[in-house]
Amino acid sequence: MARLFHYKIINDAFGDPCVLVRLLRERRALLFDVGDIRKIPFNEILKVSDIFITHTHIDHFIGFDQVIRAVLRRTEPLRVYGPENIIDNVYGKLRGYTWNLVSDYPLTIEVFAITEKKIHRAKFSASRRFKIEKLPSLPKQEIILQEPLFKVKAQVLSHGIPVIAYCIEEDYHININKTALEGKGMEIGPWLGELKKLIKLHYEYDSQKILKPKGQFHELKMNTPKGEMRLEELFDIVKITKGEKISYVMDVAPTEENIKKLIKFVKNSDILFCEAYFLNKDIERARERNHLTAALTGEIAKNAEVDELVILHISPKYIDNAQEVYKEVELSRFQD
Ligand SMILES: [Zn+2]
Ligand SMILES: [Zn+2]
Repeated sequence: MARLFHYKIINDAFGDPCVLVRLLRERRALLFDVGDIRKIPFNEILKVSDIFITHTHIDHFIGFDQVIRAVLRRTEPLRVYGPENIIDNVYGKLRGYTWNLVSDYPLTIEVFAITEKKIHRAKFSASRRFKIEKLPSLPKQEIILQEPLFKVKAQVLSHGIPVIAYCIEEDYHININKTALEGKGMEIGPWLGELKKLIKLHYEYDSQKILKPKGQFHELKMNTPKGEMRLEELFDIVKITKGEKISYVMDVAPTEENIKKLIKFVKNSDILFCEAYFLNKDIERARERNHLTAALTGEIAKNAEVDELVILHISPKYIDNAQEVYKEVELSRFQD
């Protein structure tokens, strides 16, 4: 099965947490946190359309300059999502440089500050030398980005300061039934990507497990190797399966409220990227520093029934006994 999301973990669990998610056949990538990103090749950074930042502690944000450097001449905008102070922090970064030579560059950066009540927005354009332009706020909603192929949800949590957890979800996944395709005398090609996109844009997969048009029904047609065909004539070459869900959670205070919200938010993830910063024996330290412990991370993964748990952020104090951290996670995840 061709998956839509292809993720790459940038650093090991003692480095800055960062995950790059490439979208199949889209020449587009999403970046979760932007700490030390020196291991991401320049041409990969160029494809990043959206950056999701949990919070702006330096280990999650220091690489932002490098992204700007890479995309400066790009036509496609860059979107940045983060907690309430993200607009100030992006502005602060931009103000750290001199921009007298960029006014004919097309780049715009749109920034979304997610709070409990609203999503505040601002824009920075190279053509205006990255002066801040405030945009109207949006009402708070769980879905912060809705695209034909996927959506991204955000949850505000606490790390002493506000921190955002994210998940990226595909509503449903479309596979191509090769036998049926061959039966129609058709071949695999880029047109199938177009077909999948059109279906996702105009059809939802309902609880009856059928594709049902979203909103008003229009008879849709598309160009295929056999000429123009109605979209619905092509439904027998697709097979629908459950969409994938990937969650990203870093730097969360070990409070009951956070944990309750998290379990609900990351429920049934195919993959959960999560910190396990301290060992349970150092729970006092974890409370002081507003981080999860390995035992709590294991418990969250268990209660949320996630398929795969990837630990990304461990305190350097355990560098010589990382195995203990992984063991504690596994123990709490798999014990009854
Ligand atoms: Zn932090
Ligand atoms: Zn951190």
